[in-house]
Amino acid sequence: MRNPYSVSIESVDNSKATKVGFLLLAASIVLYLFDKNTFANTNPFNLTLAQTLVSWALLVATIIVRIVVVVWVSNIAAGLNRGILSWAIFALAFPSICLIVIGFLDEKAGDEALQKIVDKCRANYAIEKYVLTKSEQPKNELKEQLKELKRRHTELLQSKVKEFYAEEEKWQMAKVEFIEVAETDLASGKVSKRKAVKIDGVTYSTDKCPACGHRITEDMEACPDCEIALK
Ligand SMILES: [Zn+2]
Repeated sequence: MRNPYSVSIESVDNSKATKVGFLLLAASIVLYLFDKNTFANTNPFNLTLAQTLVSWALLVATIIVRIVVVVWVSNIAAGLNRGILSWAIFALAFPSICLIVIGFLDEKAGDEALQKIVDKCRANYAIEKYVLTKSEQPKNELKEQLKELKRRHTELLQSKVKEFYAEEEKWQMAKVEFIEVAETDLASGKVSKRKAVKIDGVTYSTDKCPACGHRITEDMEACPDCEIALK
């Protein structure tokens, strides 16, 4: 669900984990075959120095890879709202399989009743957006209408979310905070700091309102467009 206050669907992309999982699986098959050919029919007490070093290096590398995968999978599991401990154990036992599987998973809803409400609002928005985009209109007018459509659906979604929380007697609106995030530029390896917004504990790496996409600044107390509270 990512952000229950927004009509935009932002599904999580962990396909990188799946790719690395397949690479790891291929690497371990190659290593297994290499191991079998090199050490087959060799008495473990009769290994040459080179063979001993290679087997120790492989053992250390395997342990390091497992630790890295466990940390990575735990982070992904936390982001997906899934049990961290069970995923960590899975990763420790079968690192490559675990990476392949977790890369396909989507976020688990914290609250299924709320998820239903949000999904319905998003589906309605998506249908109307599709119909509007297909209509033949001048570009400028279309842009304005799309903006208005998003504003209207955001308002509707937020009132439904408010209503849901009121019924649940845990009325709350999102807590939006401005935070500093460090980002690494992969090309140059440089780390830069920039502002991001955090809504109910989830970080969004833009200075746009996480609920409606309107541009916001740190001194604002509420989003000028959808009026979500910024603290
Ligand atoms: Zn907004």
